[in-house]
Amino acid sequence: VTYRVTVTPVPVAGERCALCAFEDITEQEQMGAIRRDFVANVSHELRTPLTALLGFIETLQGAAREDPAARARFLAIMAREAGRMNRLVQDLLSLSRVEAEERVRPVTQVDVSAVIGQAVAALRPMAEAAGVAIERTGETGHLPLPGDADQLTQVFHNLIENAVKYGASGKLVTVEVARDPDGLARLGPAVRIEVVDRGEGIDAIHLPRLTERFYRVDNHRSREKGGTGLGLAIVKHIVNRHRGRFRIESELGKGSRFIVTLPAS
Ligand code: ADP
Repeated sequence: VTYRVTVTPVPVAGERCALCAFEDITEQEQMGAIRRDFVANVSHELRTPLTALLGFIETLQGAAREDPAARARFLAIMAREAGRMNRLVQDLLSLSRVEAEERVRPVTQVDVSAVIGQAVAALRPMAEAAGVAIERTGETGHLPLPGDADQLTQVFHNLIENAVKYGASGKLVTVEVARDPDGLARLGPAVRIEVVDRGEGIDAIHLPRLTERFYRVDNHRSREKGGTGLGLAIVKHIVNRHRGRFRIESELGKGSRFIVTLPAS
């Protein structure tokens, strides 16, 4: 706990007295530290690809100018680094948008089945390239619920993309959809969507922190896979906005299960 103490001298009946005010500023201090950490993280994440880009531009202007093979190789690396910066900026914008809207409940009706179908279709080429099959099980019919279609598409896109990225090659990713009559106590009927992979799994000590911005189990691996470290933070905020629940279960070496429960009315 952090207190700010203000001492004001007050003469009382000719005596030298002082008025001491204690103000609990713990929350302000914590918010300040979170903000400073976030800015430091963003700067670091942007500076890494930017430094690489500047280095390659310099090389292209100098020694590599007359060497077509080197030029092609460096341009490919530069495109990859620029792509990384672009993804980071897009994810930062998504995060700030969903944080700003978190208190406003979506009012439009969305068919969550169609939303899942869109996310699966968009990711199929990437999954095929990685040798991973995506299978849908359970309910496939119309499943209406109050929601924001773009944001819910992003939830399932992020979860299925992670399952493909971190799922072992040649294995299956399953998207299981079920109606849940009392999945969310007090909130009535719900729809439960589980994204399951048979990949490397996650050690239990990491689970509580996975939805923090920029938290990664393995920094190198996440970067190698093109990750920004913001995907699960975005998922958590969108699910909160929908008054739903987000839970992760995992077993090291066996795989992971990401469970989203959304109120259906
Ligand atoms: P990233 O862009 O790094 O993938 P996320 O916020 O989506 O960021 O995920 C945070 C971290 O959680 C990842 O870096 C990875 O270590 C871990 N993770 C996410 N999904 C899975 C999964 N399906 N299997 C194993 N680890 C995962």
